[in-house]
Amino acid sequence: MKAMTMWNEKYETMPREELHALQLIRLKKVVRLSYDNNIHYRNKMDAAGINPEDIRSLDDLTNLPFMTKDDFRATYPLGMLCVDKKQLREMHMSSGSTGVPVVMAYTDDDIAQWAECMARCYYMAGINQGDVIQITPSFGLFNGGFGFYHGARMAGLFIIPTGAGNTPRQIRLMKDFNVRALMGVVSYGIRIMEILEEQKTDLPDLKIGIFGAETFSNSMRKKIEGGLGIETFDIYGMTETGGVGTTGMDCPAHEGIHVWEDQYITEVVDSQTGKPLPDGSTGEVVLTSLTRSAIPVIRFRTRDISWIQSREKCICGRTHIRIGRITGRLDDMLIIKGVNFYPSQIEQTLMSIPGVGNNYQIIIEEKDGIKDLRINVEVEPGVTGFMVEKHLKEALGFSPKGDVFKSGELPRQEGKAQRVFYKKGD
Ligand SMILES: [Zn+2]
Repeated sequence: MKAMTMWNEKYETMPREELHALQLIRLKKVVRLSYDNNIHYRNKMDAAGINPEDIRSLDDLTNLPFMTKDDFRATYPLGMLCVDKKQLREMHMSSGSTGVPVVMAYTDDDIAQWAECMARCYYMAGINQGDVIQITPSFGLFNGGFGFYHGARMAGLFIIPTGAGNTPRQIRLMKDFNVRALMGVVSYGIRIMEILEEQKTDLPDLKIGIFGAETFSNSMRKKIEGGLGIETFDIYGMTETGGVGTTGMDCPAHEGIHVWEDQYITEVVDSQTGKPLPDGSTGEVVLTSLTRSAIPVIRFRTRDISWIQSREKCICGRTHIRIGRITGRLDDMLIIKGVNFYPSQIEQTLMSIPGVGNNYQIIIEEKDGIKDLRINVEVEPGVTGFMVEKHLKEALGFSPKGDVFKSGELPRQEGKAQRVFYKKGD
């Protein structure tokens, strides 16, 4: 690992005692801001029997009530605003399964906070002032495109703002403008890799890929790094915390995700009981935003599954906490034949089989109330469905059906890939 420059060395290497002191000051402030300016936050705290005066140490955080996506949906569109509406400059939203969107609104300061977090991520990945980057998530309501953009403006990068789609043109622009770093979802990186193979060409200037919004296994990571000849970074963040990159990324040591602790407090709790878990135990990630003003989150239950990996200073020099890479979301958990697992476990297994390609589908078939699992996967000649089934049985403990296809036979998507499909039998 070579020495990297940092965007904000003072904060990124702040001794932990100082970080904690700063967190407490900021926590008191954000609890006060939300309590005094919004009835929804105030009612929740009153119902939990706590008010801003009760926050005297960081330990008091656990006395505050949780927030969930439902808080956003119940108050759609701007019922959780803690500032005057005239201060708003931008909004992004994500739509969930229920159809009621989750809206995040931004003041000037909130956009600057987002850009600061993103600029740190760019520098952490080794992308510096003047570097050429291509931003492939769409510039629209989804936070991805604009998040990468705001950060790149602050970091002084040369932005090729392609947005989504038209992969051959994306590749041409990457060549014409000597793009050094690619931003997007990992399945889009795979798509680019496939087109390059078809065109029998490569991208010698491309060195770095920052991927977010989708979970991806270590095996998938290795494949894309080998195929594109790049180093990849796993970026974290969501609409509710303020968008892509707000809650951090893995560093060149690739030993967990650094969460920006001067900006967010991270907890990991038991998803059933809500009780905090000891470091190293796997549970639900809970985040509190310390520096956002329009719609701050306090103890927001992310539904993401991870663990506190380390609070020690990292070899990259940063002092901020590291959590494990997100390998699953509570909402994605599958239960078939009494076995609980995440789609990422299937991906990890498939990608470890020699000759298995990058495209696969996880199909849940339900007949007479009984669920069965079928895996469709593209393979090289010589790999059989039986071989795929054998590996999956070893990994999952039951036998799913494995159907193999030639490369290019399964449908492709541009943007975030759908991997899991449900089919109801008669
Ligand atoms: Zn590090």
